[in-house]
Amino acid sequence: MAWTFTALGGGQEIGANSYLLNLSGIPLLLDAGLHPKKYGYESLPEYSLIDRELEAIFISHAHLDHVGSLPLINRRQPQAPIFATIPTKDIALRMLHNTVTVMSIFREEKGLQEYPFFEHEDLWPLEGEIMGLEYRAAGSSLATGKMVSSERIYLRGGIQARFIPAGHVLGAAGVLLRQGRRTLYYTGDTSLQEQALIPGAVIPEGEIDVLIIECTYANDPEYYSQNRQREIDSLAREATAILSSGGCVLIPAFALGKTQELLSILHSLMRRGQIPSVPLYISGLGKSITEIYQDQRRYLRPHTSILDFELFSVLGLLDDLAVETLLRKPCVIVATNGMMVENTPSARIARCLVQEERHGIFFCGYIDPDTLGYRVFHAQRGEDLIFSPESAPVTIRNSNIKRFYLSSHADRYELLEIARKLQPRIIILVHGEKEGMEFMQEELTGGSQIFMGEKGKTIRLD
Ligand SMILES: [Zn+2]
Ligand SMILES: [Zn+2]
Repeated sequence: MAWTFTALGGGQEIGANSYLLNLSGIPLLLDAGLHPKKYGYESLPEYSLIDRELEAIFISHAHLDHVGSLPLINRRQPQAPIFATIPTKDIALRMLHNTVTVMSIFREEKGLQEYPFFEHEDLWPLEGEIMGLEYRAAGSSLATGKMVSSERIYLRGGIQARFIPAGHVLGAAGVLLRQGRRTLYYTGDTSLQEQALIPGAVIPEGEIDVLIIECTYANDPEYYSQNRQREIDSLAREATAILSSGGCVLIPAFALGKTQELLSILHSLMRRGQIPSVPLYISGLGKSITEIYQDQRRYLRPHTSILDFELFSVLGLLDDLAVETLLRKPCVIVATNGMMVENTPSARIARCLVQEERHGIFFCGYIDPDTLGYRVFHAQRGEDLIFSPESAPVTIRNSNIKRFYLSSHADRYELLEIARKLQPRIIILVHGEKEGMEFMQEELTGGSQIFMGEKGKTIRLD
């Protein structure tokens, strides 16, 4: 019987990632995301392409581009059990509650009548419906590269599934599916390199027929995950120069993953005297996710300095006056969103900050070419930039807008390494820019059949 794959979103882009599989007549869904740069109905995966009852839904991790539309697909397909790792379940619910708040604000600001797509009370049943599964904790056999012993899931059609630690952020896991003698591995978002808190990914052992692999950094030849320590050292040098001359440093970061990594890194740097001890601020959602990191610390790398709440303060209201007051004394601000999407805390702070030379902005993760973050990073001094449609443009007077590669994703060479190690018969490239996928296609000449995911297009996996 045939296997097929259809991208409902997140084919040749980092979008509303959601992938429909049909394994010999059994339909399964991998992830249920929301598009990070689109609004309203446009931000949803093409769920109308699902024409029968799903057997199960798997969530690889709790970033919104993978889980943001889960309540909607759950409403359409209430019979389908939802599987995630234990930490992902906790974090996803927290992220989704925050999404209700954000969508309610957008309903007012942007006049989007369809928002919010779901209410807080719609999320309460999900607490019982998402099945949180055990996956191998850090510090066990990860260091030696041995196979993991995650819980197994048994489904109709003789399908077996399990989660494989994928690095990236707390709870992130790839999904390994087996039916008869055929196997499929979906990486989710992944990083082989260990980070301050998160151990590196495990590459599954044994034969894999079909590999569905993320391509976030496939298009970036400058990023080498192995240079992490060098990047941290230069961040420390640049931060010290700014802070000791009275400026502030803004680091745009996602609430899940990057915020906790940065807190841990900045804390270690301050403790070792590599950067001045100044107040550290984070945004509200970052704090609640950090609490889950503390609760679920058994999945973090052993002996990591756990994030003490006395070390940072939470940002309050962010109108212009509040931001001006905040920027009066040297401080480091880790604020969402990582790509500085309009109207997020990082965008509001950046608007004031770019107008004074003494401050700095340090990007530390992926910045999509269509985002404000990308425009700010590439702006020249003296250039006028619009930060939001509602406010007047501001002139960039700051040349301390830098980028440090502290990514939680695999670099392009690690992506190739995963594919070469697994030697699958079929590779499906997803979650990346088209040019990056073309690079992967050119490099992977080992006999695999390679496809680029494309929204709405079904690929036969024969
Ligand atoms: Zn992610
Ligand atoms: Zn993603």
